[in-house]
Amino acid sequence: MEPVSPTIPRKQRLATVWLAGCSGCHMSFLDLDEWLLELAQQADIVYSPVACDRKDYPAAVDICLVEGGVGNTDNLVLIQQVRANTTVLVSFGDCAVTANIPGMRNMLEGADPVLRRAYLELADGSGQRPHAPGIVPELLERVLPVHEVVPVDVYLPGCPPSASRIRAVVEPLLRGEWPELSGPDLIRFG
Ligand code: SF4
Repeated sequence: MEPVSPTIPRKQRLATVWLAGCSGCHMSFLDLDEWLLELAQQADIVYSPVACDRKDYPAAVDICLVEGGVGNTDNLVLIQQVRANTTVLVSFGDCAVTANIPGMRNMLEGADPVLRRAYLELADGSGQRPHAPGIVPELLERVLPVHEVVPVDVYLPGCPPSASRIRAVVEPLLRGEWPELSGPDLIRFG
């Protein structure tokens, strides 16, 4: 059997991560439709809530799209694992970039008022606060945008970013180039 030529570029290792977000950014990723087939030629999806069932974030990831803010202790552990094992971390969508919708709870100034409001004051019957250490992750005091926790390499705004905007970021990254986002079609929030 012929040895594999060292000039053949290896496939990129791509991951997507879902933190405190609604999964809408991932739905927009799926809107890439047939381009996903091209993507599969160029990259292996090594971790993603929409593409594989792997539980632990793998090592040596080339590109990771991170949806959502950092809102609880599970998010905090995962984003640190992502940063430690990823070359290019993309802040994927407005919740990752600014905290956006999940960050609205920051107006109540702390995890305790949020839990009291949601589980006691607004309860129909006898309210009860969730408490299951090790099962239900604790809320952080504030929901943080990703860059307030770990360094971010690329910002991809939008709620959600359109499929074409996602492609405008991922395609150059797969070629080893930095994406150039400019103009309202590519950098507008919302
Ligand atoms: S940016 Fe918008 S679509 Fe994406 S997770 Fe947040 S709320 Fe959902």
